[in-house]
Amino acid sequence: MPDTTTIAELTPDALAAAWASVSESLHEEIGPQSYTTWFSMCVPTGLEEGVMTLAAPNSFTKRWIEENYSSNLDRLVKAAITSAKLIVVDVDQEACTEAYVEDQDKGPVNKEEGDSARPTPQDRPRGSLLATSDFVLNPNYTFESFVVGHCNRFGSALATGAAEQPGTTYNPLFLYGSVGVGKTHLLQGLCHRILEKNPKSRILYVSCETFVNHFVGALEQRTLPAFRDKYRTVDVLVVDDIHILANKDRTQDEFFHTFNHLYNEQKQIVLSSDAPPREIPTLHDRLVSRFQWGIVAEIEPPYYETRMAIIKRRTRERGKPFPDDVVQWIAERVQDNVRELEGAVARLIAFSEMTKRPIRLDLAHEALGSFLQLTPGAPSVDAIIGAITKQYDVKLSDLQGKRRTKSIIWPRQLAMFLFRVLLPWSLEEIGAYFGGRDHSTVLHAVKKVRIRAREEEGVQGELSTLLTLVGGGPLDQHLLEGVSKKGS
Ligand code: ADP
Ligand code: MG
Repeated sequence: MPDTTTIAELTPDALAAAWASVSESLHEEIGPQSYTTWFSMCVPTGLEEGVMTLAAPNSFTKRWIEENYSSNLDRLVKAAITSAKLIVVDVDQEACTEAYVEDQDKGPVNKEEGDSARPTPQDRPRGSLLATSDFVLNPNYTFESFVVGHCNRFGSALATGAAEQPGTTYNPLFLYGSVGVGKTHLLQGLCHRILEKNPKSRILYVSCETFVNHFVGALEQRTLPAFRDKYRTVDVLVVDDIHILANKDRTQDEFFHTFNHLYNEQKQIVLSSDAPPREIPTLHDRLVSRFQWGIVAEIEPPYYETRMAIIKRRTRERGKPFPDDVVQWIAERVQDNVRELEGAVARLIAFSEMTKRPIRLDLAHEALGSFLQLTPGAPSVDAIIGAITKQYDVKLSDLQGKRRTKSIIWPRQLAMFLFRVLLPWSLEEIGAYFGGRDHSTVLHAVKKVRIRAREEEGVQGELSTLLTLVGGGPLDQHLLEGVSKKGS
């Protein structure tokens, strides 16, 4: 370890080395469990004018560190880096993912303790992932640990398919979606699966940023032949976050040739991005068209049921299953980003351990309430069900049950309609919630409400009242014309 105390201005490498020494001390001071939960994903991203920035993977981790470990952090960082005067924790998911993955085999601090008898992907000979790869796959990012739902069913089926028969049907495979929807997880799951089936496969998994850096480095050091040799002799090339190519003309040219070379040799190419090919700014037309040669699929943010399933999976994995009402409460509030969902779970578990109180709704309110306020008065499942059951004097079990009497059918249809226009749920999820009904039943209910609202007197008034009660705003024409909040 370098003598970090003497370093005033730090290069990125020196900063990383200093952080490694801070990590080790943190690990000692707060114990392996807390260290893994809160710091294993954190990474320093810069030191400027005495301010060191530490990236945290989500807002829950950031706040937890600030609330509980700021004095440890402050003391240890200042001891390791004399020029550091202030430590700022920032949410930067991407910086964290890469660092975590790269750190997987860097020593005891980041090693997960667990079932040592079973070989993990980490135990595979390194050579199986291309020897020159600077990336180590995250052992947790497997297909088995990926929760499949309506939002990602197509994308995950394609990834599985491509892993079964690389270089054939789905080539290139292009997955796109917003931050935290599981793109990296799926890409790495594909690598794991290919290696399981054929440990000799030469897979190169890189973030696009790494590709850019390698290319620029090769240009500067005049090592292009080696660079090309590395990228063009693989069986599978996986490039995460390919949208980084935007505005990088020369790298785009190089990638174009890499692509052609591999494609012509029928090697599998897998790409992820935050947008579909044609929406990546300044991406050359010839790349756009090539990215569309194979198959392009969107990974959508998880709907409610999938979020519930992910929370249940995570809490079971950690040996701390949450009661259903707590799972629902979180799933209703964290909507778009699975990493935030994981942060909420970690925070609640830690809060419960620290206060020695059981995980219940009241504790969830305390630990997470300030993060997870629904927009005041915004529509929620509870609000909709509350309004319907009150206005029509029915019970939730009636709405979810099989009875088909008139007094229940109409409130049930209204409830389905409100779910559809006010909540980001898919038809399938709404059907499942209402007693395992088919998505076509939900569609029918929505249509029925719209028709009756147009044709029957009083129905628009009923709707207006319900919307007011659930905080859904006025009865806009678009609600009656069939534009859902999130398409499906
Ligand atoms: P992206 O690359 O799209 O930004 P990631 O793949 O990094 O997202 O996912 C963020 C986190 O959420 C990861 O820890 C990942 O394991 C988890 N995650 C995302 N989607 C799922 C899912 N469907 N099932 C299980 N975990 C998921
Ligand atoms: Mg990613």
